[in-house]
Amino acid sequence: MKLTKNFTLEELTHSRTAMKKGIVNYPNESALSNLVNLAEKVLQPLRDKLKKPITITSGFRDIILNKLIGGAYKSQHTLGEAADFYVIGMNLKDVFKVIIDNFEFDQVIYEFGWIHISYREDNNRKEILVAYKDNSGDIRYKPFDNNYIALKDYII
Ligand SMILES: [Zn+2]
Repeated sequence: MKLTKNFTLEELTHSRTAMKKGIVNYPNESALSNLVNLAEKVLQPLRDKLKKPITITSGFRDIILNKLIGGAYKSQHTLGEAADFYVIGMNLKDVFKVIIDNFEFDQVIYEFGWIHISYREDNNRKEILVAYKDNSGDIRYKPFDNNYIALKDYII
């Protein structure tokens, strides 16, 4: 099922873990409507701007699936508001810059080789974060300080 010209419900619900564990990773009506918003307001405009395919690594996650893969409690993925992706042939930090300069979003996170982005119907916070690992290897987030040069290069 197509959500926009280039994005399908299948790619935004696909999960290898869900398949392996027999979890039906299908959004309810409100999560589906959020996924449509995410695709219409963020993913498709970004794809049109970059003129490159966007590879979704994780979109909607059923609560059980989210827990299984160690997703954050109350992750926006479980509401259909968030997706993780990368763009083949582009440095991830260039993609990050295009998003920040051009689009409305709730939260965008520069992760470890992918970008997490979320969109809400109302009250988008426009929060910009960078993920990093602390001394004990735990993942933490800090506000982005506008220093693109300091971001790690990820060229996929
Ligand atoms: Zn994510």
